Amino acid sequence: MPIVKNISEFFGNENARSLKWRLEHGGYESARKALREMKPDEVTETVINSNLRGLGGAGFPTGRKWSFVPKGTDKPKYLAVNCDEAEPGTFKDKYIVEWDPHRLLEGIIICSYAVGIHTAYIYIRGEYVRPFERLEQAVKEAYAGGIIGEKVLGEDYKLDVFIHRGAGAYICGEETGLLESLEGKKGWPRLKPPFPALVGAFGCPTVINNVETLSHLPGIIKNGAQWFSDLGCERNGGSRLFALSGCVNKPGVYELPMGTPMKELIYEHGGGILEGRKLKAVVPGGTSSAVLTAEEAEMATLDFDCLAKLKSMAGSGAVIVLDEDVCMVKALHNIEHFFSHESCGQCTPCREGTAWVFRILTRIVEGGGTMADIATLKNLGQNMGGTSICALCEGAAMPLRSFVSKFEDEFEYYVKHKRSLVEDRKRNAVAV
Ligand code: SF4
Repeated sequence: MPIVKNISEFFGNENARSLKWRLEHGGYESARKALREMKPDEVTETVINSNLRGLGGAGFPTGRKWSFVPKGTDKPKYLAVNCDEAEPGTFKDKYIVEWDPHRLLEGIIICSYAVGIHTAYIYIRGEYVRPFERLEQAVKEAYAGGIIGEKVLGEDYKLDVFIHRGAGAYICGEETGLLESLEGKKGWPRLKPPFPALVGAFGCPTVINNVETLSHLPGIIKNGAQWFSDLGCERNGGSRLFALSGCVNKPGVYELPMGTPMKELIYEHGGGILEGRKLKAVVPGGTSSAVLTAEEAEMATLDFDCLAKLKSMAGSGAVIVLDEDVCMVKALHNIEHFFSHESCGQCTPCREGTAWVFRILTRIVEGGGTMADIATLKNLGQNMGGTSICALCEGAAMPLRSFVSKFEDEFEYYVKHKRSLVEDRKRNAVAV
């Protein structure tokens, strides 16, 4: 399938950041159409019919998420935009904010109007300095140009947009951790229910949507639900940005229709594996997704349902390619280091489990592991998931289970020989 240019249309175009240029090139026309020609429920219905799903990771149908927000409440409603992309390998929202921040603002207007929201917060990760500066500039321009503020696009609708910078914690990308942080507290995820649609920011109904999800709204309102739905595959509407990294010749961000074969992304758009080596495995949706073997990757398509059938997930759209020279023991050690560092510590299985997994893997890569350690890792992989407040614990357990079960020979070799099978193969120290 060819690369599409729905939300990546202006990536690389320096002019697209300016409000004047964007207004001359279709900017805010969809928001104007929604405000002038559509009722809020019609906008929601259009988004439901488009099959747009949450592209931050969870894949929940976007319009349905909006419909959970109560209509008759006298409490204020909020929109929290999740721009805290901190999953290793994920860097797609950064492109939107850096190159086309007005597309995001237009999506924010459309969502806010549909749900009856008058205050939106953009929560952006602290490390994103340049994206923050560009977003801040766009918000200032939008206020000055009468795009947002007291009268959105000159219509009788008020919308304020605030940018809130995070301080570098991965867990603040979890939606309720984000809300806690937004309220000025420690970014500890909340027990659910109640869900944010009923009790969110400051105890009020809140929609939390990812940057990319919102950025698709102008295209959907302009071209219609059917157009977007037809672009993708069944139950997975439209296109999506894939952040391709790892052992490929052309890493980068590619916009492709949902349902595109994974091998097309890797070999055609990504230019194939580095130095002609063999594909070994793919982490298909950020490091919290289960790793796929080369055979699984060959048959996978890039959509939520196919990857769920393969017992993994499309997650954040971060596709990390591992070739035959990658040691899976060291790769998992690296991943689990991240999760043990980022666990917020509220839940025992997560706080103790991630630290325990990291300590065992460290022992193995340092040459002191035993066969019992492999059994313990398997056991932890089965018992950590599903027993905690948020998904981080399961996010650490998924790679653990899949790496150890699919590449057990490498773990056993490492324990037995106190060194990596892959590195030995490279040195031709053992017969393959
Ligand atoms: Fe914190 Fe981990 Fe519990 Fe999530 S699962 S709330 S990160 S301790």
